[in-house]
Amino acid sequence: MNLYDLLASRFPADRTKACFILSDRTEISYGALEAGVGRIAALMKDKGVGVGDRVALQAAKSPEGVMVYLAALKIGAVFLPLNQAYTASEVDYFLKDAEPAEFITDPVAFAAEAAGCAPIAETTPRADGDLAAIIYTSGTTGRSKGAMLSHGNLAANAIALHQAWGFSPDDVLLHALPIFHVHGLFVALHCAFLSGCPMVWLAKFDDAEVLAGLKRASVMMGVPTFYTRLLAAPGFTREAAAHMRLFVCGSAPLLESTFAEFEARAGMPILERYGMSEAVIITSNPLEGERIAGSVGYPLPGVELRIGGGEATGVIEIRGPSVFGGYWRMPEKTAEEFTADGFFITGDVGRQDPDGRVWISGRAKDLIISGGYNVYPKEVELVLDEMAGVTESAVVGVPHPDFGEAVVAVVIGQGDEAAMIAAAREQLAAFKTPKRVFFVDDLPRNAMGKVQKNLLRERFGGTFG
Ligand code: AMP
Repeated sequence: MNLYDLLASRFPADRTKACFILSDRTEISYGALEAGVGRIAALMKDKGVGVGDRVALQAAKSPEGVMVYLAALKIGAVFLPLNQAYTASEVDYFLKDAEPAEFITDPVAFAAEAAGCAPIAETTPRADGDLAAIIYTSGTTGRSKGAMLSHGNLAANAIALHQAWGFSPDDVLLHALPIFHVHGLFVALHCAFLSGCPMVWLAKFDDAEVLAGLKRASVMMGVPTFYTRLLAAPGFTREAAAHMRLFVCGSAPLLESTFAEFEARAGMPILERYGMSEAVIITSNPLEGERIAGSVGYPLPGVELRIGGGEATGVIEIRGPSVFGGYWRMPEKTAEEFTADGFFITGDVGRQDPDGRVWISGRAKDLIISGGYNVYPKEVELVLDEMAGVTESAVVGVPHPDFGEAVVAVVIGQGDEAAMIAAAREQLAAFKTPKRVFFVDDLPRNAMGKVQKNLLRERFGGTFG
């Protein structure tokens, strides 16, 4: 079944019911969403977008952007969301790699252009294995990989989450996440659509708007940074959270101190879950039953999870209906990251306790997660290494009170720190740009000549307090 038809089959029978509740309190109904999707789908078809063609979107978050996503599904096209923070040269790479038939940067204008089109009612049938979306993740070699997710992958995960987190039509989801990433795009939207419930729709996380939204919402999904920001807001009290039944957190590790402080302040524990672009959500703490700080909970129903390498702690491997089919146009990379028996090697290091709960201890590939966004050191190092005065660079993530981790560069060579940061920023999104650059005579290495990043993390770990 086409994922769009699955989602639309659960829209409320009364289509006048709100889907989006905007900051100015205006509402966009489910009926208006459906009509908008039908018109945008018609315009895409008029423009020659065919089944299997990619539709790229790089734009500020908007309800029209959601309509573009759903319209792409409806006509059997493949949705390709791009982070707005990407620079022109980064976007250039994605466009060359994915070759979209349509690249939309202003979904509001696109929807306006579609206003004259007759909405198409029929949805293009799709099989479970047919491609629905490509989500680019940063590559360890500096090249981004496009994770290919099918209609079946997304449907299976949506159904499992809707059930696991007890969504109902009475819920109101506070949506403050971006929609270019699986968290805000698939996890949040699909749970809302499958329950036919409204969303308090915020363009971004803003303390005052979130505090106001909590009074009308019942569920919030966020990254750890959202929760540390809420805790920093004096207005966040037990009363402010009284209307809420569930706070979900993921995309990066939640500090145990944040979990504890939040429970004390809000009177309920955060539900932490673990996921990735390649499989959407993999494990979750329980809705009913104990949520343990530091654990990402149990594998979702249908997910087979094991620890590779035969040790208690090792790289987490997963298999199941939501696990992606492979990386776009990278058959060798895909083959490397799956085991012979079809498990995806996540690259996350962890263990599973006798009770079945999963604990993540680190990232095999030195991925940095800053403010919920992934930064692969290699991509930043490649930019720095090109700069005058730089012999070699090593990029690590160090603890940061606001972003979780911050990008720090350690450079063999000489130069001006501020100028180097500014030059890096010209080529890299802000979240990837080093916050500090340290100059050294040499980098610590092991016997094989590999830079020991763990030592750099120790040495510069106190940079931000
Ligand atoms: P992305 O593909 O951008 O969603 O990033 C996926 C990565 O984020 C995973 O491979 C993990 O390393 C990390 N991640 C996501 N959720 C959690 C969590 N709850 N705890 C620790 N790491 C997480």
